[in-house]
Amino acid sequence: MTGKWSKRTQAVHGGARRSQYGELSEALFLTQGFDYPSAGAAEARFIEAGPDEFIYARYGNPTVAMFEDRLAVIEGAEAGFATASGMAAVNGALMAGLKSGDRVVAARALFGSCLYILEEILPRFGVEVAFVDGTDLDQWQTAVTPGTRAVFFEAVSNPTLEVIDTAAVAGIAHAAGATVIVDNVFTTPVFSRAIEQGADLVVYSTTKHVDGQGRCLGGAILGPRAAVRGPVETYMKHTGGAISPFNAWVMLKGLETLDLRVRAQAAGARAIAEALTGDARLARVIYPGLESHPQHALFPEGGTVLSIDLAGGKDAAFALLDRLEIWKISNNLGDAKSIATHPATTTHKRLSGDRKAALRITPGLVRLSVGLEDPNDLISDLKSALAGA
Ligand SMILES: *Cc1c(COP(=O)(O)O)cnc(C)c1O
Repeated sequence: MTGKWSKRTQAVHGGARRSQYGELSEALFLTQGFDYPSAGAAEARFIEAGPDEFIYARYGNPTVAMFEDRLAVIEGAEAGFATASGMAAVNGALMAGLKSGDRVVAARALFGSCLYILEEILPRFGVEVAFVDGTDLDQWQTAVTPGTRAVFFEAVSNPTLEVIDTAAVAGIAHAAGATVIVDNVFTTPVFSRAIEQGADLVVYSTTKHVDGQGRCLGGAILGPRAAVRGPVETYMKHTGGAISPFNAWVMLKGLETLDLRVRAQAAGARAIAEALTGDARLARVIYPGLESHPQHALFPEGGTVLSIDLAGGKDAAFALLDRLEIWKISNNLGDAKSIATHPATTTHKRLSGDRKAALRITPGLVRLSVGLEDPNDLISDLKSALAGA
């Protein structure tokens, strides 16, 4: 299918490969290996495999390839490599291009496991990592010294929803010769413009919105063909971070409904943020879709997640969580089911008190991932839980 069609159309049809049966719904190829027609054909494939030639499922598989191509086409990237989880994608995007002596600059507001890779693993191998406040361009300008190898950030941070100016950071990074790696989970492929804003590699945990129904783990690294089919694929295929074909098939079918789901979830998040704004029991309502958000202009679509900060601190936050009927207490996001999380005691528990304070992960902060239920029900549930708390 040619690239002239819109993202939403490509999300339904892009990357499809048909077997001899002409099946309409994409097939699930649960196979690790492939039968070569001759010894010569096997030899030729090991020298260079064509786009529809596979060797071993750790390297590639037809169902996985459909998922990679469909996601790449809607992201506007030349190529993609699908991974076992979002963390396999973050690890692969970083490790594939780094060596001892390199310098990386990262935004300090990061998902816990991303922080672990940057803070604990990379320095063990002689990679120097500096952290900046991702919303402060002066800090990027100072930290990204000439020869810096890569910059890494979450375009919208978790759980405080700071939005980073991808185009401006990419400009600073490229001037120093650094590769720009963006973890774009909160933006979602629906609202992402990361490639046109200058990202070199875009990383997703497809566990989140792409599956969108909380079933499977998955991830992807998207970018120029030379990088993805070169160092990224070489690193991933030899270190074992391949996605299961079954999970890739779930994700591939998830892409068909991604646009509808994410737009409905974002509309719900906006309605909830507006309904809670001004509530005296809340010290903050954080949602990039609100004009009151400091980086509203960078992400006016707002996404599917908001955070609220209860003035009554941890006790009030726990009382709210324990009174909710529809919202589930969990730590996933992007799911069809609405999920409430208390970051300070779960996802961000590992951070010291000082770092929590610097990131404003306060005891009263509750992250709300908005699902596909009726937004009016979600608002009623929150309001009655708040009244009881
Ligand atoms: C969930 C998440 C990850 C990790 O993804 P997994 O699929 O759980 O490995 C990485 N970055 C961000 C921003 C996430 O939200």
